[in-house]
Amino acid sequence: MTSPHYIDGHWVEGNGADCITVHDPSLGEPFAELRAASVEQVDQAVVAARRALPGWKNHSASARAAYLRGFAEHLGQRREALITLQMRNNGKPRHEAEVDLDDAVATFNYYAGLAEQLPGRNADVPLAAPGFSARTRLEPVGVVGLIVPWNFPLVTSAWKIAPALAAGCTVVLKPSEVTPLVEQAYGQIADALGVPPGVLNIVNGKAETGAALSSHDGLDKLSFTGSNTVGSLVMRSAASQCRPVTLELGGKSAIIVFDDCDVDQAVEWIVAGISWNAGQMCSATSRLLIQDGIADALLPRLQAALENLRVGNPLTEEVDMGPLTSQGQWLKVAAYFATAREEGLECLAGGKNLDRPGWFVSPTLYADVPAHSRLWAEEIFGPVLCSRRFATEAEAIVLANDSHFGLVATVCSADIERAERVADALEVGHVWINSIQAVFVETSWGGTKGSGIGRELGPWGLAGYQSVKHVTRCL
Ligand code: NAD
Repeated sequence: MTSPHYIDGHWVEGNGADCITVHDPSLGEPFAELRAASVEQVDQAVVAARRALPGWKNHSASARAAYLRGFAEHLGQRREALITLQMRNNGKPRHEAEVDLDDAVATFNYYAGLAEQLPGRNADVPLAAPGFSARTRLEPVGVVGLIVPWNFPLVTSAWKIAPALAAGCTVVLKPSEVTPLVEQAYGQIADALGVPPGVLNIVNGKAETGAALSSHDGLDKLSFTGSNTVGSLVMRSAASQCRPVTLELGGKSAIIVFDDCDVDQAVEWIVAGISWNAGQMCSATSRLLIQDGIADALLPRLQAALENLRVGNPLTEEVDMGPLTSQGQWLKVAAYFATAREEGLECLAGGKNLDRPGWFVSPTLYADVPAHSRLWAEEIFGPVLCSRRFATEAEAIVLANDSHFGLVATVCSADIERAERVADALEVGHVWINSIQAVFVETSWGGTKGSGIGRELGPWGLAGYQSVKHVTRCL
């Protein structure tokens, strides 16, 4: 293993106070250790990124695009190693780890394409007033701090690194302390491609390292993905320096199933929305709204489907769902099981931690969960589905929108006009109609309300790393 921090083109050992232990959640056992970066090392990374900025932003956009295509190609070359590492450190089933890798590759290729189009977007602006000309210049925001969580480490970092580098920004990435290894690939690839030193820096660590980065006065922008609690701290750091932020935060999303829906298909979409990545998705559709007429047919089928999921160690078994990624998350979900018992919720499936080594829980379904239940309102971040019934379309919309969060939603109905109407009424950033949660690089990602500020992916993801300048001239 290389040293864990990539600063100014060099791999270095950490000299921070924190020791990070990396676990295999399927066994609950450690398999690697590293020392966190110190506050001084975070400073060195930001200073290196600042030094590299003029050179990188003055590279032609097509040269930056060539590097991004190189990232995509090298990810492909490391495919098997990165998939195995995600299976081991995240507990992801193989097919999920493959999807993550493919997503990261697609993201680098997509932003390479947008970088190639950048010169054409620096165009003249038609003015109504005579005697003047004006032109647009899309410039990089500058040095950007990127702080990410552990649930989709390869993907979340790709969604930030690729558009930032495409725009001409230089970056300091801080991966999660739960999964500090997989994103080292981005530093290794930068090395292999000869990306100029300081353009991409990686500092690993816990809260202290994250706080040192988010409060550093050498940054021009912060892009954060993670919990609302930490997001609010990061926003406060940014506010103290009047610095822009993008925040991708939590969710408690609804999946609405109407009477006319095909039951088999509905079961497939509901199960995928709560069991993918063991429910550790910001976009988990963990609030199930079922129309009265289909509820009695759907719930037993759903119960059976959840109970039939093969839960186990992805490295040694054929599984549909792995463990939770950390012991902390396992304890948090266990606490929600206890709350459900105290609240007297009706448990149709699961509701317990599995009695085996590792951090496994059973896929869980609660019925008729009242809106005042903590399980209905709070993000659990595990395979825990809460259901309620509704009578009318209007009631479903009110129930779905009754949340502090506003990340995503799914609508299942054979009546496409109705599904589109409901999609338009939902206060979220992304809606799926009769679909699993397919995320395409061309569409946006991000939430309304408490789910965040700004958008990633698509041209909006690039715009988040650009500053718009106009040059107006008297003719
Ligand atoms: P977290 O907020 O605990 O940690 C996220 C990152 O912040 C980690 O790298 C962590 O080390 C760092 N951090 C911790 N304390 C910090 C501080 N004081 N200052 C700066 N950085 C600090 O989140 P998590 O547990 O890693 O991830 C789960 C959360 O992420 C969930 O709420 C989930 O919904 C959210 N998430 C959102 C999206 C999205 O796109 N909206 C995607 C994935 C995950």
